[in-house]
Amino acid sequence: MVSDKMYELGSKKSTIRTIFEYGRKRAAEVGEDHICDFSLGNPNVPTPDFIKDAAIDILTNMPPQAVHSYTVAPGDAGAREALAKSINKRFGMSFSRKNIFITSGAAAAITICFKALAEPNDEFLVNAPFFPEYTAFVESVGAKLTVVPANPADWQIDFNAFEKSVNPHTKGVIVNSPNNPSGAVYSEDTIRHMASILAEKEKEYGHPIFIISDEPYRELVYDGREVPYIPKYYEHTLVCYSYSKCFSLPGERIGYIAVPDTVPKFDVVFGAIAGAARVLTHVNAPSLWQRVVARCADKPADIAPYEKNGKLLYDGLKEAGFECVRPQGAFYLFPKCMEDDDYAFCERAKKYDLLLVPGTDFGCSGYFRVSYCIATETIERSLPLFKKLAAEYK
Ligand code: PLP
Repeated sequence: MVSDKMYELGSKKSTIRTIFEYGRKRAAEVGEDHICDFSLGNPNVPTPDFIKDAAIDILTNMPPQAVHSYTVAPGDAGAREALAKSINKRFGMSFSRKNIFITSGAAAAITICFKALAEPNDEFLVNAPFFPEYTAFVESVGAKLTVVPANPADWQIDFNAFEKSVNPHTKGVIVNSPNNPSGAVYSEDTIRHMASILAEKEKEYGHPIFIISDEPYRELVYDGREVPYIPKYYEHTLVCYSYSKCFSLPGERIGYIAVPDTVPKFDVVFGAIAGAARVLTHVNAPSLWQRVVARCADKPADIAPYEKNGKLLYDGLKEAGFECVRPQGAFYLFPKCMEDDDYAFCERAKKYDLLLVPGTDFGCSGYFRVSYCIATETIERSLPLFKKLAAEYK
């Protein structure tokens, strides 16, 4: 009667959601102050005032018809021009409006890219650990997600495994740096290395292999790190950006795809993106928010609270005896469980009202994800509890 696959996707809750909902129920029983909920990646830094001011100004001073009407599918021309200018200033590109397709966040941006690129038997490659939704997004366009085994030493790419995983069916590689869930950031050397492997493979197979750079955490990097702008290193790159995390706007659904001029057959690729957006019922990204982010594109993200939380949690976990890679970006840590079964470990953590997400969901068993986009006091409160949890394994 209905698609089995769609029913499965719609009725089976994600582990993250299940843990979050358990936390809500538990908070109602024992009080919010007893719960240390590390499950969701919902930014807790308040949305900056410049966003509110821009929205109020647009709503007050632009004719309502202009704000609330449909825009053309790739987005309002002025907004796209402003976003292109901001990218040019920051990364030394020479984009104009024709390079920008505004979307409803990064989820829409990456799915539109998969749909635009996928032909029968195509595969998209991702390095583990990875954002679990990639599986549903890639499979929804009839392609296969190929997972490259993780490199737990530092969560950087295992280039041996990566090179072996690229094959004649590989249409694209998903890059997510800063990474959810590991917090790893890829250096310029890493991007160059990946680009050189892919360029060789393109030559060998005689077809393009795209990098789809999923960048919702681009601004969230610590200790003065830089996140390389991949189109500078590799021609076939599509950049998928989002304002969900940097401006704490996840509910407003706004981001974009940047298609650089250097992408060979630019018109064909941009045309396929427009077609994919059309069949995915994109119509246009929210019109008000196109204008708001266009006005605010050059403004900085407030990363200080995340940097502080990341250090506090990392130091606390290390002191408690956990193996953990130092956070470089995003707002997640991905420590090793103290037993092989990550589900059993996260279940045991519930005894202390520590709500952790098993690594298996991110393609990496034996680890767990902690989201630190939460109140600093919750992290402070959690540290003795992590110690008690660790003590159970000594
Ligand atoms: N990609 C990654 C790696 C994410 O972690 C998320 C959200 O958490 C998304 C994409 C989706 O972001 P958006 O809210 O922009 O759709």
